[in-house]
Amino acid sequence: MRAIIIGAGIAGLATALRLHQIGWDTLIVERAPERRGGGYAVTFGGIGYDAAERMGLLPDLRASAFDTQELVYHKSDGSRRFALDRTTIAATTGPRSITILRGDLETALYDKVEGHTEIRFGATLTAIDQDDHAVRVTLSDDTIEEADLLIGADGLHSATRALLFGPEEDFLLDLEHKVAVFMLDRRPAAIAPGATGTLSSRGRTAAIISVGDGRNVAFFGYRADHARPDEDVTTQLERVYGDLGWVIPEALAGLARADSVYFDTISQVVASRWSSGRVLLLGDAAWCVTLFAGYGSALAVGGADRLGTELAAHPGDIPAALTAWEAAIRPEAERKQKLGRRVKGVYAPANPALLWLSLLPLRLASLPPVRWYMTRRFIKG
Ligand SMILES: Cc1cc2nc3c(=O)[nH]c(=O)nc-3n(C[C@H](O)[C@H](O)[C@H](O)COP(=O)(O)OP(=O)(O)OC[C@H]3O[C@@H](n4cnc5c(N)ncnc54)[C@H](O)[C@@H]3O)c2cc1C
Repeated sequence: MRAIIIGAGIAGLATALRLHQIGWDTLIVERAPERRGGGYAVTFGGIGYDAAERMGLLPDLRASAFDTQELVYHKSDGSRRFALDRTTIAATTGPRSITILRGDLETALYDKVEGHTEIRFGATLTAIDQDDHAVRVTLSDDTIEEADLLIGADGLHSATRALLFGPEEDFLLDLEHKVAVFMLDRRPAAIAPGATGTLSSRGRTAAIISVGDGRNVAFFGYRADHARPDEDVTTQLERVYGDLGWVIPEALAGLARADSVYFDTISQVVASRWSSGRVLLLGDAAWCVTLFAGYGSALAVGGADRLGTELAAHPGDIPAALTAWEAAIRPEAERKQKLGRRVKGVYAPANPALLWLSLLPLRLASLPPVRWYMTRRFIKG
């Protein structure tokens, strides 16, 4: 059996790994000209963690995971509001969860699929044609590839979804925020090694994450009413964050030296079905839950694992496998989408009173008696 996978992100690579484990051949088609690195820090737990364990990926992920030593909440002048220590942070996520850079998760998957899949970089798909026996995909280099299954793992702005179901405007639910993330080539002195510092002020948040191994990530998330259409990322961040002190000027200066920047609106994908015949969508292309849910990587790996399980359980009957797969994954994806929509309301509140309220649970967690209770519960499991 053979599958063509569009996109060599977390969903596409995890799918290639899982399909190899059930004896399928795969071809991955990736638009980018080469492998990308870096990215932002993701919390990886839930069904993704369980799937990574089953797929033999966990030791590699654990080797690149990092622990945040201290999470410090700042006021807009840079002074400390309160902080959570390493044990309290671990207690909030639980024992079966890790923090890892998105690029490191991708690298671990690349290493696992190397030699087991062909990856064609610098290419995309331009047409899909399918019948009861096969699916044929025309690629941008004018070649035609044939397979038993086509998987669109090409992210939020999926071209596979557009060819299969129609324009993205019909599927994207705008959560009215923008995000910009990039790697910083030097750690601002005010951020301790291994620590994360964050602030939120009038509808804007910023965070600097020191991984602790010399790598650092700058993150900016803000309400879309601060944004102006057609403004480039540098102009926009300088205008929106320019009045703030703390390490913000250093982080903004780092943008000019960054290799790449992730800059997009925060949108969910809401689709009433994820497959048609021999074509399915997986990962952000199908259900993007957004960073507000903090669960997209976990769903991508968990979804890939379950796809392999259902294809193996329904040999020769792809429609039955895809129906069983969607029934298994959809409830979890929809729960996380609901969570994402709830978090949107308190993520970067414009109102200082709402900000104070939204930080209250974390502020409480930083108090010694609550901290003691939480970590005791965590240690007991
Ligand atoms: C700032 C931020 C923080 C996040 N934090 C978390 C977190 O804490 N926990 C968590 O679990 N998740 C988190 N996520 C979500 C997580 O990163 C994504 O859900 C996950 O990476 C989804 O992977 P994907 O492979 O579906 O899509 P993507 O990562 O978008 O990968 C898609 C791939 O397809 C390629 N591609 C795109 N279009 C085409 C095309 N037309 N042809 C060929 N290739 C194409 C792209 O180049 C890319 O390689 C966060 C996301 C963001 C933006």
